[in-house]
Amino acid sequence: IVTRQAPQPKPWIDAIHAYVPGKSKGKDGKPLIKLSANENPLGTSARALEARAQAPALYPDPDSTALRAAIAAKHGLDAARVVMGTGSDELLNLAAQGYAGLGDEVIYVRYGFSVYDIAARRCGATPIVAPDADYGTDVDALLALVTDKTRVVFVANPNNPTGSYLPGGEIARLHAGLPADVLLVLDQAYGEYVAPEDDDGSLALAAAHDNVLVTRTFSKIFGLAGERIGWATGAPGLVATLNRIRGPFNVSATGQAMALAALGDDSFVEASRVHNRDERARFVSKLTALGNHGLRPLPSQANFVLVLFEGALSAEAAFDGLADRGYIVRWLPGQGLPQALRITIGKPEDMDAIAAALREMAEATK
Ligand code: PMP
Repeated sequence: IVTRQAPQPKPWIDAIHAYVPGKSKGKDGKPLIKLSANENPLGTSARALEARAQAPALYPDPDSTALRAAIAAKHGLDAARVVMGTGSDELLNLAAQGYAGLGDEVIYVRYGFSVYDIAARRCGATPIVAPDADYGTDVDALLALVTDKTRVVFVANPNNPTGSYLPGGEIARLHAGLPADVLLVLDQAYGEYVAPEDDDGSLALAAAHDNVLVTRTFSKIFGLAGERIGWATGAPGLVATLNRIRGPFNVSATGQAMALAALGDDSFVEASRVHNRDERARFVSKLTALGNHGLRPLPSQANFVLVLFEGALSAEAAFDGLADRGYIVRWLPGQGLPQALRITIGKPEDMDAIAAALREMAEATK
């Protein structure tokens, strides 16, 4: 008699640690003000919310034609080189799946976005983690790890959860140092928060080379995280690969309509960027003043700040103290950052309250 067991996952799937999302409730289930998922504190463009009501409920346009045309027009791209995803998460996964498999290597930096590990492992590839440079991306450390087995390199710019940012010259140097058959995925989920004069040239690089894919999202500055819409651009061959393996109706009709409207609402996007720039600067300067208590906010070009706790007050205690005061932020021990909190830039009154609470806790801890 053959004894049959339950289905067994492939070993490389079994090795994956599931993504842990930012929570909106405290330990006791109490709803808290959520500054744990880098959402837009200004909400969503009113024009996008109006568009939602008009969207049909039948199958969406499988090619998101109007939305892709609008994205291409906005960024001076060829619409044929734009592909949509169910969030940029889907596109990151598809990029790994399309270009890496068993025995191949996928490189990203320590304290990089946690989806890269999942994306690499789920297609059987081996994740290779490059050391950071004081929590930032170190181009030389990444390049030093390239082997004949390297198929994909993921870099988020700005990076989550550190907020660090590589200038265009470093991105170009990274690309120039990679073999032509290695796919460089430049994840710009927070790209719209970067001051225009600090643009890192990713889109131009993707337009000019066969091995660069740029991903962007409607989840962050556009305030459409709930709709799950991302896009990617790169050479026709890269886009064709992703189109072959994506879900046929991977962006909903409401999502397409809302994203199209949000893309046209320049004043909402600009207000969001300016709010973030100003509030982030104010928050960072308040935390910098707590340096004598060991608090160290890292420089950020994104809509969050990673705060290191290097004194008596621990990140875990600060996390609990903030939750007691009604705020949930992100503590990341699972990502090797037990000494840090990632705090999304929210409304001015919330940032003031958080800074005051951190001061109070730091002063009370010996
Ligand atoms: N890349 C980075 C660096 C992110 O922080 C996120 C969101 N946490 C994503 C991609 C994915 O966002 P989405 O799937 O909502 O587009």
